[in-house]
Amino acid sequence: MAKGKINVAVENIFPLIKRFLYSDHEIFLRELISNATDATSKLNHLATIGKFKGKIDDVKLEVKIDKEGKKLHIIDQGIGMTKEEVKKYINDIAFSGAEDFLEKFKDEKNDSGIIGHFGLGFYSSFMVAKEVEIITKSYIKGEDAAHWICDGSPEYTLKKSDKKERGTEIILHIDDDSLEFLEESRINELLMKYNKFMPVPIKFGTKEIDDPKHKPKTTKDKEGKETTEPQKMMTVDNIINNPTPAWIKQPSDLKAEDYKEFYHELYPMQFEEPLFNIHLNVDYPFNLTGILYFPKMTANIDVQKDKIQLYQNQVYVTDNVEGIVPDFLQMLRGVIDSPDIPLNVSRSYLQADGAVKKIASYITKKVGDKLSSLFKKDRKEFEKKWNDIKIVIEYGMLSEPKFFEKAQKFALYPTVNDAYFTFDEFKEKIKATQTDKDGNVVVLYATNKEEQHSFIQDAEAKGYEILLLDSPIISHLIQKLESENSELSDKKQPIKFARVDSDSIDKLIQKDENQISKLNDEDQEKLKVIIEEIVPKEKYTVQMEAMDSKSNPFIITQPEFMRRMKEMQQSGGGGMMGMGNFPEMYNLVVNTNSDLMQKILKAKGKRETYVNQALDLARLSQNLLKGKEMTEFIKRSYEMIK
Ligand code: ADP
Repeated sequence: MAKGKINVAVENIFPLIKRFLYSDHEIFLRELISNATDATSKLNHLATIGKFKGKIDDVKLEVKIDKEGKKLHIIDQGIGMTKEEVKKYINDIAFSGAEDFLEKFKDEKNDSGIIGHFGLGFYSSFMVAKEVEIITKSYIKGEDAAHWICDGSPEYTLKKSDKKERGTEIILHIDDDSLEFLEESRINELLMKYNKFMPVPIKFGTKEIDDPKHKPKTTKDKEGKETTEPQKMMTVDNIINNPTPAWIKQPSDLKAEDYKEFYHELYPMQFEEPLFNIHLNVDYPFNLTGILYFPKMTANIDVQKDKIQLYQNQVYVTDNVEGIVPDFLQMLRGVIDSPDIPLNVSRSYLQADGAVKKIASYITKKVGDKLSSLFKKDRKEFEKKWNDIKIVIEYGMLSEPKFFEKAQKFALYPTVNDAYFTFDEFKEKIKATQTDKDGNVVVLYATNKEEQHSFIQDAEAKGYEILLLDSPIISHLIQKLESENSELSDKKQPIKFARVDSDSIDKLIQKDENQISKLNDEDQEKLKVIIEEIVPKEKYTVQMEAMDSKSNPFIITQPEFMRRMKEMQQSGGGGMMGMGNFPEMYNLVVNTNSDLMQKILKAKGKRETYVNQALDLARLSQNLLKGKEMTEFIKRSYEMIK
């Protein structure tokens, strides 16, 4: 037996390890299982190159709890270590790794990101154990097995062991403050979190299954009496992981069903089907595999739940993929697996890292290509999915210039009558009818078919097409589309967007012809004064207009610019801050050709009633009539029919 002292600068590194990353103690298990998996993969590799001749097809790992002995065992059948290797890899190399790690990150304890997930390796077991044993036997014939014991001080013992089977057993004597790691449910939870898709089968306990050799059997005796022999059960290893998850397979080997099945394997609590998936597979200039899914983007989608998971060689790392996956794609679900993402670095470093930037732009490109091919292959299907995916695409168009360019070809703009156009198609369609006298093509849109119903009708009566744009970020996108198609850009015809209720329809798309007013200038001026005296000045700007006599007498509109700025301010975004708050201001458009105007001019005593009633009706059609005003309106209306 040999006693030794681990060569370290800091005498008491173990208490440090313990304190470090307090909330992340659980990662010890992943680290040990990763080591065991590596040892198994190395054995497989030796077998493929002919340096190991034994049987390798049934190799697995095992995790075992010894509750009474307060021990946790992690057992593998990998390459094992010789005594010399234990000295070298465990005492020298691994230890210096742990020391480096602490040195590097001791000031960054508060970065709750990826940091600390990898790198501590074997020594992370001292976060939960007061003593650790390694019993290991190398695959090399004739080598003695070794037994290493360390109680958490820099001293260790290393002796011969009589272990017969190849592989390594790690025994953790769990510390009293970490007894949770002797609970079956806790270990199961950790295995499911970190090791669900590890490449080597992991046994954790046993389970009972139907014994295929003893199916229930019914026999009849001579008198015809039946006796049934019951199904017998058998005990088998409980393998908790799937060593060959879908993302590591070739896309050509997978059917649509397989992708769906994997989605539910990844998110067992998710009952909705994904809309479609994108299989990522690249090996140059970086390594990355994965599957991304587009879920249905309903208003109540919980983006904190079932997020994209990041793996490194099938080991779970985190579901915080900020910096690696572009922002607009973080609403997607699925898996990405890459050994090339540096993990022991801070978020800000990650964002500046060249390889990571390439990964992000590769993912953006793949998603763009997939959407584009779905659009080309089956446009009808794509249209059906549009409302469930538009938020991601619109967000992407706003945040990634390259994606904007690509998306111009497949981003859809639905009309209030459910026809879907690309932007170019729509522009072509409305150019002839919706160009105003200054040469702008005016895109009319509604955000709510119900609330803006009367305005939509007025616009349709003129033969105009109206888009239905109801995403929360649509005002930002409109702003961008306008500036991309402005007079300043080299496009010939500038585009302007106007919500249907932002002015009277004749003003929204101003043509050269002038409507003739039934009122002469004098009466018009008189009427304006009357109305201005009655309606609240601080809220409404009265605007006289000669419209169709059948159009409503009063129309309340909210100028496009004001409303849009307000919306953009509310939904956040650059450039909008510091512009102050926009007041709640409306235009009251008075239709001078409406018969009601004659009535208002003539009737002296009832003027106020007429104006207020007409104003309230206009408010009502804009969903603006509430509270006291509503009560007064109802009262007045009853008065009028009495
Ligand atoms: P890392 O895994 O990052 O190299 P570790 O501290 O976890 O660092 O392990 C140090 C070394 O000890 C490994 O590189 C490996 O050579 C050896 N080792 C650890 N666990 C095992 C194991 N279960 N079987 C064989 N060798 C192992």
